[in-house]
Amino acid sequence: MAILVPGGAGYIGSHTVYALIDQGEDVVVVDNMQTGHRAAVHPGARLWEGDIRHEAFLDELFVKEKIDAVIHFAANSLVGESVQKPLDYYDNNLYGTMVLLRCMAKHDVDKIVFSSTAATYGNPDSVPILESAPTRPANPYGETKLAMEAMMKWVSAASRLRYVSLRYFNACGALEGGAIGEDHRNETHLIPIVLQVANGTRPEVTIFGNDYNTPDGTCVRDYIHVMDLAQAHLLALKHLRNGGKNEIINLGNGVGFSVKEVVDTCRSVTGKDIRAVTGPRRPGDPDQLVASSLRAQEVLGFSAGMPRLDDIVASAWEWHRSHPRGFDS
Ligand code: UDP
Repeated sequence: MAILVPGGAGYIGSHTVYALIDQGEDVVVVDNMQTGHRAAVHPGARLWEGDIRHEAFLDELFVKEKIDAVIHFAANSLVGESVQKPLDYYDNNLYGTMVLLRCMAKHDVDKIVFSSTAATYGNPDSVPILESAPTRPANPYGETKLAMEAMMKWVSAASRLRYVSLRYFNACGALEGGAIGEDHRNETHLIPIVLQVANGTRPEVTIFGNDYNTPDGTCVRDYIHVMDLAQAHLLALKHLRNGGKNEIINLGNGVGFSVKEVVDTCRSVTGKDIRAVTGPRRPGDPDQLVASSLRAQEVLGFSAGMPRLDDIVASAWEWHRSHPRGFDS
């Protein structure tokens, strides 16, 4: 029996596929390559190139492959883009998940680990954020992820489906050894952008706002290594295989760093003089997002293998230094 990984050519998906195969799992990746990379797919995984919204395509996959469980990453995931193009997010994220769940039901696949986000919380009243905190997404990305969670909840109530939804905070870093790493075209994420200044492919980083309600005025985020996220997916899969119940679980390190602190850490890790300028706020950015990671420990037995920001940045730098043009390098 195989694990189906929709979105397995994307950043977090491809790293999780490496972890699954490392653990001896048989893996099938489905990806439409809208933002994924063929070169990111582990050579030991079977790649079905196509779109989860195409039910006939997905049906054929479920007939030909024997699927035990799904780890679902296939989604559009940029906050700013979601504000500009909300219907793209409803279409790919919500409709895509609907087709996927329908195919799973048709083919008796009853376990799904789901890629959710801290953006479901919106601007929190306090940090660290517990899973019981109110969910008030401030953009269509967070809204569609929350609606995907609700879809799984109601399908689960009406069928045998069980799910674990993992609400990630800020994923970063790369697989050790440099085989794969983070490569978004039109990069919008902080750490890759800062490291692109360090590797000479970008002249400067703009700090989006320095008047937030935080100690140094720049936004505070909780950065977690992508391979720690990958391990958490493996633990969530184990939980479901052991008959565990539905869960929603935060994944972060429980420690916040400001944008300025991230830039300074990148300077000290790379030894480069990284030029940073201050610009206006980016719409939709909450002041602080920091996870309570207690539930991940209690329910999944999760603990991060690489919790320190300098180690996470060093891991990302190994990739960006050796791959200045990402997978085209
Ligand atoms: N950020 C920034 N400059 C950039 C990109 C990001 O100041 O060029 C800030 C952004 O406003 C946020 C933090 O860095 O406060 C993390 O942003 P990112 O896009 O990496 O992740 P997000 O928190 O949106 O998931």
